[in-house]
Amino acid sequence: MSRTENVDVVVVGGGPAGSTVGGLLAKAGRTVLILERETFPRYHIGESMVSGMAPLMEELGLIEELDARFQHKSGITLRWGRDPEPWRSDFSAAFSSAGSHFTHAWHVTRSEFDELMLDNARKLGAMVHEAAQVTGILRDEAGRVTGVAYTQDGETHRATARFVVDASGQARLLTRELTQTSWQEDLRNVAVWTYFDSYTPIEYKDDILVEAIPSGGWVWGIPLSDTRLSMGYVLSAEKLAEQTRGGRTQRDVFLDCLKNSHVAKTMVDAEALGELRTTRDWSHVCDTFHGPGWVAVGDAAAFIDPLFSSGVWLGTSGAWLAARALDAALGDQGREEQALERFDALYRQLYKDILAYVRFFMDPTRLREEYEERAREIANMVTQSSRVGFISMISGVSAVADVVDFDPMSLEEVEDVLQEWDEQIAASREAGEGGGERSRAQEVKASHKAHPVR
Ligand SMILES: Cc1cc2nc3c(=O)[nH]c(=O)nc-3n(C[C@H](O)[C@H](O)[C@H](O)COP(=O)(O)OP(=O)(O)OC[C@H]3O[C@@H](n4cnc5c(N)ncnc54)[C@H](O)[C@@H]3O)c2cc1C
Repeated sequence: MSRTENVDVVVVGGGPAGSTVGGLLAKAGRTVLILERETFPRYHIGESMVSGMAPLMEELGLIEELDARFQHKSGITLRWGRDPEPWRSDFSAAFSSAGSHFTHAWHVTRSEFDELMLDNARKLGAMVHEAAQVTGILRDEAGRVTGVAYTQDGETHRATARFVVDASGQARLLTRELTQTSWQEDLRNVAVWTYFDSYTPIEYKDDILVEAIPSGGWVWGIPLSDTRLSMGYVLSAEKLAEQTRGGRTQRDVFLDCLKNSHVAKTMVDAEALGELRTTRDWSHVCDTFHGPGWVAVGDAAAFIDPLFSSGVWLGTSGAWLAARALDAALGDQGREEQALERFDALYRQLYKDILAYVRFFMDPTRLREEYEERAREIANMVTQSSRVGFISMISGVSAVADVVDFDPMSLEEVEDVLQEWDEQIAASREAGEGGGERSRAQEVKASHKAHPVR
């Protein structure tokens, strides 16, 4: 029988971004319903995590379980740039410069990782419906999102809420309809990948291997366990179309990629090439990550080519920011716009920094020192060491403080707004337009003091 449930927040999608925002809001005492169309465990690509995720995993109480279940990842080995020698960067350098006790990240089998995250959201108090496909968005007369319609067991149900979170990944269930999406034409890529059940590790066997292929594109090697390697080839959609003309298959293209690689081909036996998987891997970003009654996180909001394995980190960081913004907005309706705007601004900055760097790095003709120095600049690192700057940037560690300290209602930021207003008022007085707005500013400040959030 058809039912209607009412909660504070409905989350569409139970991937890492959805289970993060849902779990954290439930932990904060909000009623949350996560709707996931699949039944977990389900397959997913995106297997190499970065160490900037560690503080969130600690907040979610998952560090011990991750350490016990998944392959540790200590850094990245690159064969990239003008210098033909492979070079490496170690995660621990980034953390020790930030004074943190974390040292590593993980390579994960996503079906298991995502199930762990979703189960954890349940443990934290979120309700989860699996095999529940969201089919429509509910809106009131003013256009505010008020819930969703979904199907489960052949019935259509409704879930109403103060906020709906789009965490539906590439399906972009809400953002497809509620905002525009910009596609990065220069990162219009395709990925082709497979798994090898036996391989020869590289020197630092916990590292992800990232290698530029001279004929174009790049290859990843991710050691999921001592015996299982995920290996993929990312190249432009145009190049793949070119290379598969005249009856050549994706298998031929993948074998050529191995032939052209210096490191990847030493790891695997090309004869053992298994079934190939493929997906579009086209970077995109939504014009806005929020609107009346909704926010978007994870791939539903933005996606960047997986060159630095940033997807899960970016999506779950956005989800962590969103959880705090929604919690604040649920606590004080009058502050919804401010909270969501601040979430949007910081999340967008994280996205922009990675995108700018991926674009710079995609040119494989530079020197290692140039890649490292540019990373330090983009991340605005105070460190003198460009090597530390590089690993801090690509691991997400340089942004950890901003994410961890994010407070959508901080007085400090209200002070900035007030200062801006003061300057505008002074300017309008100078122009002889009178004043009066300052009392409004004082109201905001007083009201913030009366309702501190967290
Ligand atoms: C080739 C490739 C390689 C990658 N490698 C990496 C990597 O090494 N490291 C990394 O961090 N990232 C990587 N990524 C990116 C990573 O896969 C994503 O960024 C990440 O999975 C995003 O998480 P999410 O929770 O936003 O979305 P998802 O993990 O896709 O979860 C979305 C969920 O929403 C559900 N859903 C969709 N529509 C509906 C609906 N209508 N109703 C209900 N539920 C719905 C889906 O079933 C899914 O479970 C890679 C991506 C690609 C394409």
